Amino acid sequence: ALHAAVASGAPILALYVHDDEAGGAWRPGRASGWWLQRSLARLGESLDGRLHLLRGDAGALIPDVARAFDVRALYFNRCVEPWRVAQDRAIRRALVERDVAVHAFNGAYLFDPAVIAKPDGTPYRVFTPYYRKGCLERGRPPREPLPAPDTVVHSGARPAGALSGDASLPRHDWRPVDGHDWRPGETGAASRLQRFLASGLGRYAAERDRPDLASVSRLSPHLHFGELSPHQAWHAVVERIGPGALRDDRFLTELGWREFSAYLLFREPRLPEANLQKKFDRFPWRDDRERIDAWQQGRTGVPIVDAGMRELLTTGYMHNRVRMIAASYLVKNLMQHWRHGAAWFWERLVDADLGNNSASWQWVAGSGADAAPFFRVFNPVTQGGKFDPHGGYVRRHVPELAGLPDKHVHSPWRAPAGVLEAAGLVLGRDYPQPMVDLGESRRRALAAFQGLGAPGGPQSRSH
Ligand code: FAD
Repeated sequence: ALHAAVASGAPILALYVHDDEAGGAWRPGRASGWWLQRSLARLGESLDGRLHLLRGDAGALIPDVARAFDVRALYFNRCVEPWRVAQDRAIRRALVERDVAVHAFNGAYLFDPAVIAKPDGTPYRVFTPYYRKGCLERGRPPREPLPAPDTVVHSGARPAGALSGDASLPRHDWRPVDGHDWRPGETGAASRLQRFLASGLGRYAAERDRPDLASVSRLSPHLHFGELSPHQAWHAVVERIGPGALRDDRFLTELGWREFSAYLLFREPRLPEANLQKKFDRFPWRDDRERIDAWQQGRTGVPIVDAGMRELLTTGYMHNRVRMIAASYLVKNLMQHWRHGAAWFWERLVDADLGNNSASWQWVAGSGADAAPFFRVFNPVTQGGKFDPHGGYVRRHVPELAGLPDKHVHSPWRAPAGVLEAAGLVLGRDYPQPMVDLGESRRRALAAFQGLGAPGGPQSRSH
C-alpha cells in the first residue's frame, strides 16, 4: 500500500488508528501489545517521525481525517480478522460516498485468501490440497518483495488529537525476561531472518521439533506485525534452496500453514469462537478454574507442559512442538475447552495471531476443518523424551528439576526415592505431583469423545 501511495505522486499522510473497542476480546493482549508499541515506534522513526497515531473508532476517525484534510485516496493492506474485514468495508463505503478513491492491497499473505478456491469455486478445508493444488499449482507465484520507496513525501497535515511516537497507545505491564533478545521492528526482523538463513535453515527440517535447540526462525511476531513480509522470507529461502526444492521445503511449508490459517479465518469467520465440527458442541468439557490456573502458571506437575507454559510467561513465545503438547494436555487430559487455552495464548504470546492461534487450537482439539483426530492424545512424557532428549529445555524453564538425571526429567513422579533425594527434590513441596494421571485422563477423554458418536477427521498435518 505504501509503495502504491508513493508511486501516485501525492503527499502521504501516514495514519495508524488504535481501536480498543472494535476488536472486542481480540484486541492485542499483554505480550503482543508490548510488541505493537515498540513496533510502531520503529515504524514512526522510519517514516521520519511522521506516523500519526490516533486512538478511537477507526470507522469514524478515518472518514473524519479524510474530510478535514481533503484526502483524495486511501491506500491500505487488507486483513483477514472478521472484525477488521467488517470495519474496512464500512470505511470503504464511507469514503467512496465522498468520492475518495480506495485502493486495497494484499500485503500480508503470499496467496490471496480471497482468490484461492477449489476448481468448483468452494473453499479448501484440508491443508495439503490447499497448499499444493490451490497455491503452488494454481495460485499466482508469490510476487517478489517490493523495494522500500527512496523518498516519502509527507503531507503537512496534522490530524487533531494525533500523537507521534507511542504515547497514545495503551500501556502493558508485561515485558520479556531480561536478556531476551526480541527486537520489535523492521531492522530486528531483517537481522533475525539473516541469522536464521545462516544458521537455522540448513538444520530446520531435521531439528524443527527440538525445543532444546535453536533451529526454528522465531520470525512469527515479525511476520504477524508485518515487519517482515512473507514474500521477503519466501524469496530469501528460495534463493538459497533453488526453485526446484520449493515444493517440499519444510520451512516454506510452514509459511504455507500460516497462509492456510489466514485462509480458514477469512473463509470461516466463526473460527475463533465456534467448533468447525458441530459435534464438538456436545463435548462434555469441564470448567475447572483451579486446573486452568495451574496450567497457565506452569504448575501441572508435567515437566514439558510446565516448561512450555513458563517459557510463554517469561518470553511471550513457546516452541511449536511444546504448544501442541501443552494444548493437547489442556484439552484432552484436563478436558478444558480449547477456548480457555486460545484466550490465554492470545493474552501472552508476542506472536498472537487470530488465524494461527484459532486454527491451531481447533486443530489440536480435533474440532477444526483439517484437524488431528481427537484420539491423537500427545503423551507428554514420550514427547518430552523424544524431542527434548537430554532435558535441556525442561531444565532451562523448570530449574527445580535441574538436578534430575535425563532419564527422569520428564517424569519425576516415576523416579526412585534415592534419585529424588540426590537431586534435592521433594515432590509436592519443590515441584507439584502430576495434577491428573496421564493414562486415566486420556481414557476419560477418549470415552467422552466416543460419546459424541462420530469418528475423528482426517489426519493430514505432518507435525
Ligand atoms: P518457524 O518454525 O520458524 O516457522 C516459520 C513461520 O511459519 C512462523 O513464524 C509462522 O508464521 C509459520 N508457522 C510455523 N508453524 C506454523 C503452524 N503450525 N501454523 C501456522 N503457521 C506456522 N503461530 C502464530 O504465529 N501465532 C499464534 O497465535 C499461534 N498460536 C498457536 C497455538 C497453538 C496451540 C499451536 C499448536 C500453534 C500456534 N502457532 C501460532 C503456530 C506455531 O506454533 C508458531 O507459528 C511457531 O511456533 C512460531 O515460531 P517460529 O517463528 O520459530 O516458527
